[in-house]
Amino acid sequence: MTTPTQDSNPIRFALHGGAGDPPPGAGAQPEQRAALQRVATEALALLRNGASALDAVTRAVELMEDCPLFNAGIGAVLNRDGQPELDAAIVNGADRACGAVTGISRVRSPIRFARAIMERTPHVFFGGAGAEHLARELGMEMVEPGFFITAERLHQLEAARRAGAITLDHDDHAFCDDDAAFGTVGAVARDAQGHLAAATSTGGLTNKLPGRVGDTPVIGAGTFADDRSAAVSCTGTGESFIRSGFGFSLHARIAWCGWDLDRACAEALDTVAHYHGRGGCIAIDSKGNIALPFNSRSMYRAWVEADGRIRVAIGPGGDGA
Ligand code: ASP
Repeated sequence: MTTPTQDSNPIRFALHGGAGDPPPGAGAQPEQRAALQRVATEALALLRNGASALDAVTRAVELMEDCPLFNAGIGAVLNRDGQPELDAAIVNGADRACGAVTGISRVRSPIRFARAIMERTPHVFFGGAGAEHLARELGMEMVEPGFFITAERLHQLEAARRAGAITLDHDDHAFCDDDAAFGTVGAVARDAQGHLAAATSTGGLTNKLPGRVGDTPVIGAGTFADDRSAAVSCTGTGESFIRSGFGFSLHARIAWCGWDLDRACAEALDTVAHYHGRGGCIAIDSKGNIALPFNSRSMYRAWVEADGRIRVAIGPGGDGA
């Protein structure tokens, strides 16, 4: 969907809670809708009070990390060894400042840590033991890995192990009888000054091999922002989003080829499908257009266009579907 720009109100916001193929009978999922609505409400209030796009997406993703319904922070999916390995990234559209972290299990808010990496170190991307050491040095809140593990995720992992599968969070596989499992989280925003920002946080894929890194923390793949083009946060088969260079190719299509946001997103998603992936993205361009495409059966999402109204949707229909 593309909406016309209204400069009198530059504020835009979009949020996702992951994509996948849940059972058609999964129902209305009122808890997930309420969570999306609540987080979008807080982010919108921040933006209306003059917060930067960067602050709005950081806070939105932090709130989603704290919500066990989604695959990030508390309630993140587990790797083959039953451990959480969390990834997150943030990008500021004004200057492409960015921070990213991969494979951590002891930092309470991976997105806050990514933000601190961006603002308080000379580097961009941290992983492994050095990352958790840095988190302590930076004074991030630390927790034990078990803090993130929920009974639902253990159950989901057991089902995936029995089936020998590595899965996207929302998938409706015969073995996956847990429709209370939800996805990667991300937010994009355009603030009152017209600046863009993007943030994404995830536990990755259920039953993934330990050490696997998805698209989320790879700047220019699952997360990207540039004030000259768009801010984008992805969800789906991370390997295919990395292979397609999703975020940066979206920027290139808009900034270099002059394509509009819908076309640029559609082509980028076609490339993901070409590389056998599925999922979707949320994106806001420099003119305030919003695109929320996905090629899976669903993508949990909320967004705010020029009229300032919060819309929430899960299925392929637009408003409220
Ligand atoms: N894109 C994430 C990953 O591959 C998974 C997801 O979006 O649910 O790590």
